[in-house]
Amino acid sequence: MVRRKLVLRFPASAVENPFVYTLAKEYNVVANILKANINPRKEGRLVVELYAEEKDYEAAIDFLQSRGVTILPLAQQIVWVEENCTQCGACTGICPTGALWIKRPEMTVSFDGEKCIVCEHCLKACPARAVEARYLSGE
Ligand code: SF4
Ligand code: SF4
Repeated sequence: MVRRKLVLRFPASAVENPFVYTLAKEYNVVANILKANINPRKEGRLVVELYAEEKDYEAAIDFLQSRGVTILPLAQQIVWVEENCTQCGACTGICPTGALWIKRPEMTVSFDGEKCIVCEHCLKACPARAVEARYLSGE
């Protein structure tokens, strides 16, 4: 089974089509809608999680693309909210890549997003909710 979070962009001509129904009925793909909107140009944007057997998933993606739907991965990013950080240092001991680290000689916690592999260990370790996981849709 595959489970993927995606951003689907629909051209105005396709917005009225019952894609979620078709994915379920014709392709055995479960589509969990996380967010949906239509812009002033009548183009649709759907953030979904698709869950299916690999071959059904591939067939469903081909179907969507054949109908003019643009498909983008929904990327996750860790954001350090510096103003919430109490400088306790708990995250720096468990961060496997040194993305959260102690700057010396100041002895202050810093974050280097380039080193982050989004393992999410810091989300559980931080008592102050100073690290957050955010989804980027490539827009
Ligand atoms: S998600 Fe993982 S790699 Fe990224 S800052 Fe947190 S602990 Fe470090
Ligand atoms: S665990 Fe949270 S509060 Fe503590 S240093 Fe890390 S980000 Fe700051």
